[in-house]
Amino acid sequence: MVKFTFDSANSNQQYIHITATFSSSKDETFVQLPAWRPGRYELGNFAKNVRNFKVFDSNNQLVSVEKVTKDRWSIDSSKTDTIRVEYNYYATELNGGSTFLDETQLYVNPVNCCVFTEETYHEEVEITLNIPEAWEVASSMTKAGEKWTVSNSEELLDTPFIASGGLQHRTYEVGGTTFYVWFNGEVKPDWDRLIKDFKAFTISQIEKFTEFPVKEYHFLNQIVPYKGYHGVEHQKSTVVFLGPSYAVFEEYYSELLGVSSHELYHTWNVKAIRPIEMYPYDFTKENYSQLGYICEGVTTYQGDLFLLKSGMFDLDQYLN
Ligand SMILES: [Zn+2]
Repeated sequence: MVKFTFDSANSNQQYIHITATFSSSKDETFVQLPAWRPGRYELGNFAKNVRNFKVFDSNNQLVSVEKVTKDRWSIDSSKTDTIRVEYNYYATELNGGSTFLDETQLYVNPVNCCVFTEETYHEEVEITLNIPEAWEVASSMTKAGEKWTVSNSEELLDTPFIASGGLQHRTYEVGGTTFYVWFNGEVKPDWDRLIKDFKAFTISQIEKFTEFPVKEYHFLNQIVPYKGYHGVEHQKSTVVFLGPSYAVFEEYYSELLGVSSHELYHTWNVKAIRPIEMYPYDFTKENYSQLGYICEGVTTYQGDLFLLKSGMFDLDQYLN
């Protein structure tokens, strides 16, 4: 089992202290940080945010490390059967696909900041969060007592979470799937209106596809006081970045619906139905595909069309 710990104690300096433990049967182990992330389809250079990268053996002794590419490290694991990797991740960027820490929240997109090894890539991952007791956690990770789990490293890299004292949420059910709608930030959701509308576009999409690919789905809304409008899709969740906060349930409400319907459609188109070049994802280098017009073009078209067909948008709103 792979074990991760995220520590929010350095929120003043905005460093997340990350510890990752991997078993290792080889003399040399490569530790890799993703070079890119799905959803943006461009190189990330996340390694620039990594500081104080250190590796320890099972006796807690420092092990020699050599950096072999901008996001890959070679570890001498000849005399140990586990390696513990420790580093700080500088987390100052807040958007739909980033990782951010301050005194109000620990927001992690593991694809930015979580290392993996080839040998343990398919092992279950256990996550420990050292965060203030009052904080809640919004995520599709599975709760296991005080800890969280995901089935393997590929799922970890596709599973963002927000730990914060400012989370609000409601749920609704469609066809046996529970949908969680989370808001983080200064916002007063009009829950009745939102649940009615989200349920409507969810029902009409599932009707067309006949079933939903996952048992539980999370809309993670990061609401900011300034202007923002985008989302990033994942298999079991989406992060929607939207602002200014005062407008989210006023003049930006149609944007909230638009981006949420779009991201839900991605659960099928691009997460479940994916260009062959990206199946499976190769996180060591960027993945090329000619099918952007299907992944994004069709999703953009259908996301809004479902809002028209389920009565959320009238023709003027749709054409706009
Ligand atoms: Zn999209």
